[in-house]
Amino acid sequence: MRLGCPKCGARYEVPSAEIPDTGREVQCSACDHRWIHAAPPAVTATAPDTAPRPRPTDPNVLKILREEAQREIAAREREAEDRTGAAASRTEPVAPRRALLPEIEEPQPDARVVIAPEEPERSGFLIGFVIALVLAALAAAAYLWSAELAEAVPALAEPLAAYVEAVDSLRRALADAVNRTP
Ligand SMILES: [Zn+2]
Repeated sequence: MRLGCPKCGARYEVPSAEIPDTGREVQCSACDHRWIHAAPPAVTATAPDTAPRPRPTDPNVLKILREEAQREIAAREREAEDRTGAAASRTEPVAPRRALLPEIEEPQPDARVVIAPEEPERSGFLIGFVIALVLAALAAAAYLWSAELAEAVPALAEPLAAYVEAVDSLRRALADAVNRTP
């Protein structure tokens, strides 16, 4: 049957005949913890510290436990070696991965991302500039050819006259301002 030390968790394989149904005190040779091993292992967990420590009655059991403990300890040491070995091999790929990270970050996708929104702004500015030029040209054309436009589209005659008047007054104001300056 299988025994587990409730204190350190060491496991032992013990012949079932060695442990009667009524239970028997056993000692973990790994940590020297003693407990009464019975069919339900929960009973043993509470007893050990308060109970006086009678000696294990059967030295054979102790011997078996010791042997098992040796095997257990050896197995654990092997496990620990494996674990540290695994840990070492685990840390190894981590370092190159960390070293790789800056390389991945370096090829300036960020810089491009920053530049990207500027381009639509520039083109937006260009479009705005072109539109302003076209509007200015249209305004100039409307002013210069207001008579022709008014003839072609009679509905525009009145607003065009107002527009021409406005531009003329603006020009007069500008001319006055220029003339006034010494
Ligand atoms: Zn133990």
